Amino acid sequence: MASTNTVSGAQLIASSLYDLGVRVVFGIVGIPVIEVADACIAKGIRFISFRNEQSASYAATAYGYLTGKPGVCLVVGGPGVLHAIAGIGNSTHNCFPMLLLAGSSESHQVYKGAFQEIDQVSTLAPMTKFAARPPSLSLLPSTLEKAYRTAYFGRPGATYIDLPADYIQGSVDLTETLPLKPALQAPKFMADSATVKKAAALIKGASSPLVVIGKGAAYSQAETAIRELVDSTSLPFLPTPMGKGVVPDSSSLNFAAARSAVLKSADVILLLGGRLNWILHYGEAPKFRDDVKIIQVDIESEEIGNNNTKNVEYGLVGDIDLVVKQLVAELKGYKYSSIPKSIIANKEKNTAAGIKKANNAVVPLTYQHSYKIIKEAIAEAKIKPIFVSEGANTMDTARNAFDVDDPRRRLDAGTMATMGVGIGYAIAAAVACPDCLPVCIEGDSAFGFSAMELETATRSDLPLAIFVMNNNGVYHGVDPEAYGTQSEKPLPSTALGFETRYDLISQAVGGIGLVARTPQELKEAAVKALTCGKVAVVNVFIDPGAKTKLEFGWLASTKKNPAKA
Ligand code: ADP
Ligand code: MG
Repeated sequence: MASTNTVSGAQLIASSLYDLGVRVVFGIVGIPVIEVADACIAKGIRFISFRNEQSASYAATAYGYLTGKPGVCLVVGGPGVLHAIAGIGNSTHNCFPMLLLAGSSESHQVYKGAFQEIDQVSTLAPMTKFAARPPSLSLLPSTLEKAYRTAYFGRPGATYIDLPADYIQGSVDLTETLPLKPALQAPKFMADSATVKKAAALIKGASSPLVVIGKGAAYSQAETAIRELVDSTSLPFLPTPMGKGVVPDSSSLNFAAARSAVLKSADVILLLGGRLNWILHYGEAPKFRDDVKIIQVDIESEEIGNNNTKNVEYGLVGDIDLVVKQLVAELKGYKYSSIPKSIIANKEKNTAAGIKKANNAVVPLTYQHSYKIIKEAIAEAKIKPIFVSEGANTMDTARNAFDVDDPRRRLDAGTMATMGVGIGYAIAAAVACPDCLPVCIEGDSAFGFSAMELETATRSDLPLAIFVMNNNGVYHGVDPEAYGTQSEKPLPSTALGFETRYDLISQAVGGIGLVARTPQELKEAAVKALTCGKVAVVNVFIDPGAKTKLEFGWLASTKKNPAKA
């Protein structure tokens, strides 16, 4: 007779996750992980069941970013893992913590071409911080604990645990396993105090200092310290796209509206949790002063000086929250009050130009006027938005249109400019921030990558307000006359279907779907979408912009490629 201490492998996995503090798992079931998901549900863990592992894995990464603890994703082996590699890459590149769990073949069938077999540990080892097949069922809890902890200690990233079918279906005596306790807070450490002193002296001596706030600052929940730094020193700041809200966008010290000018004028930059990659033009001329001195604050030593040893003057390695507190103490009594007049004028000019564009109430609707209407509807609906944005032009135009006054209230395509994260992110946001409503500003192309996840959201009772900025194409559409004549002239690669009814996809899965062509229609639809308490898609037909030339000025390389010179 089995002892009362005996549990199934599936139950052991579920109770290990529960004991670590996991309360939600994102995924898709199939053989052999159905028992694992059901054991999680029986244990009181919410299982959000997706339609494609790619979205489930993206959701886990966003959940990790929003909560500071790994998002857990459960999938089948083989194809399930291949699809979830999207999330593994997303986690690694954005430094969001996630733990992937996947079923795998029975131990005695390994390497025999078993059902959905690939060597998942070997495949994922180079892409993760830790990837393992627990050596035995009784050692599964301790291996799981290691993977969970490794994902969010130090620089956050992805980890992987293989769950062989015979483990899941096996049974184990609990007295033979390590009891788990709730996961620890990630340890925080301070920067070397001598370098903090030098960095503070550099800031004090700067004629045009600037604080750049990256998404690492948002992730590390350092908002209280960073707000104190900005308030006490009056240093101007610039958030990266996901650093928005760490200090409220509405602050008079926010110079996002003068981004190019303020980057170009700064002689000293304090960079908090952002890498010198394409998003920050590598910190190089011509976007930056050739002689700019950068103080980099990061949890990862290897990041210091990365891509730019010329301009990085000091590296402060430590947790942003603690390092900023160190800087606040060193900068006590210092107040900056000479923001160049030209920068202030540039901010005023750009803000006025933005308002003018936003007020242009034409039909077909423009991006900017649509955003103005959506913002008014958000204010009227009195909801707390968490913004999700993707699509090249849509994300680009929406970034500055929507002010964000709280940290971690804006998710976008991120470091890899990944289209298709949107609905997975929105679902994770709805779970992680139940008092907020995800407001998704989606390009029509980007939306198409994960539209079927609307069914996940309706079934899971997670309200989302989704605005599809529909210009019938990737980047821009084509003239309506181009449709129907494909036999004579093929459509360009950027074209999507003409006036595709994305709103009906929402209706088909039990949500609300609305169409808006005019300012009045958009206003009514937006209020309804934001207040209906359901999944709602507003299909906003905007100007296809067929005449718009593709411009990648924002991507402009800072240096010429020597190979092409
Ligand atoms: P952005 O895209 O906003 O420029 P990045 O993703 O490039 O931001 O950079 C985020 C950085 O933040 C990463 O280099 C990461 O190591 C760092 N980071 C994450 N968490 C912390 C933390 N708690 N303390 C310090 N740095 C952190
Ligand atoms: Mg489009």
